[in-house]
Amino acid sequence: MQFHLSARQLIVRLLGWLTLSSFVGYVIGYIWPTITLAALSLLIWHYFHLNKLVTWLWNSKSLSPPIAEGHWGRIYDGLYHLIRKHRNKQKSLNERIRLFRDGAEALPDAALVLSNDLTILWGNKKAQKLIGIRWPGDVGQRIDNLIRFPEFSQYLETGNFESPCNVPSPINGELQLELRLMAYGSDQILFLARDISKVHRLEEMRRDFVANVSHELKTPLTVVRGYVEMIQSVENDFDPHWLKAFQTIEGQVSRMDRLVEQLLILSRVEVNTELDSKQLVDMPQLIEQLLEDSTWLNIDKQHQISVDIDPSIGIIGIDTELKSACSNLLSNAIAYTPEKGQIKVIWQYVGDKAKFSVTDNGAGIKAVDVTRLTERFYRVDKSRSRDTGGSGLGLAIVKHVVSHHQAELKVNSTLGKGSEFAIYFPAEAIQKLSS
Ligand code: ADP
Repeated sequence: MQFHLSARQLIVRLLGWLTLSSFVGYVIGYIWPTITLAALSLLIWHYFHLNKLVTWLWNSKSLSPPIAEGHWGRIYDGLYHLIRKHRNKQKSLNERIRLFRDGAEALPDAALVLSNDLTILWGNKKAQKLIGIRWPGDVGQRIDNLIRFPEFSQYLETGNFESPCNVPSPINGELQLELRLMAYGSDQILFLARDISKVHRLEEMRRDFVANVSHELKTPLTVVRGYVEMIQSVENDFDPHWLKAFQTIEGQVSRMDRLVEQLLILSRVEVNTELDSKQLVDMPQLIEQLLEDSTWLNIDKQHQISVDIDPSIGIIGIDTELKSACSNLLSNAIAYTPEKGQIKVIWQYVGDKAKFSVTDNGAGIKAVDVTRLTERFYRVDKSRSRDTGGSGLGLAIVKHVVSHHQAELKVNSTLGKGSEFAIYFPAEAIQKLSS
């Protein structure tokens, strides 16, 4: 239904009304009083409808507008048409919101919509179950007021949401949650929390199993090793075949011993509970000690090892872990560099960070392998690694130690030319040593 009323039409109608009233006034002999009366009646008519309109708009519960003739009737119809249009739009919008909510409720994860300042705008029922979000009581609360774990605060601070953050549920310590944040729209963040308790338990079982088996293997290995060494040490006239066999047994037992040792270190590092007990570690002294210990490793290969150590840089960290990480990098450089190679050990400032690096001019590593080096049991060249007694666990240990110290591991390597393995410690972890 279309209705057009232009300003020209309005003026023509008004003039028509005045002309008619002046004609009537002329006929009855009262021109001005008739015109005034006509104008007044027009004004009263408009005010009457204006009042009706205001009453309907503000006080009436009915959606249908009052009935009127003429322009006002058209105006009411227009308004009614507009309201119906808005209602329909709202209906379809509500339907879409309902579909979105049903979808979000069907998710197996807790889902929250957060604003840019991390306040909660909306959450599904699962969020109530897993995180204890009360609806609508917690709307407007900041998410970090409800999930109060240092790991989560740190995760929010870094602002890097590419990988998830794992924390226990704030309402049930037995549940382990994997939290993810994703920015969407112009200023909204989607927060998802997944229950990974089962995976977490399996991971714990795996760690316990590895730790227990490694521990149990230690005693038999020590016994076998002891007997083989004893047999080798006594005066004997064994057949050379037997001597070779004993040598092989000793070599393999040593390899297993090292593997078991590395497995135990990895299990310890993976579930480190000492993270809160960091102390000042005299890194220059620790590195000197490692260099001294590695002398016997270097006997066969006779590498030239140079050092550049700043004696004033200490680190707030875990002594045993740092020792293990640095020692792994050094023993790798010795193992994977051909005889009489050049190895450089550096402990220096780089900007405001402290860098521990081991550079060698050995075999080097292909770029495709570099990204996988820190995976458990990953070895670039299995046969060579086996010859060197490698287990593929050394760099996995380094990775955990690095993450426990909020440090960063960087590997620069060129195949055939050599490698640099560097750990960068953040400024906050550095403490000057008094000389
Ligand atoms: P492994 O006990 O086998 O040495 P790591 O985890 O320490 O285990 O190292 C993983 C793999 O990375 C090694 O098997 C080796 O192939 C490669 N690698 C490590 N350090 C070096 C290095 N300095 N030069 C060349 N390759 C290296």
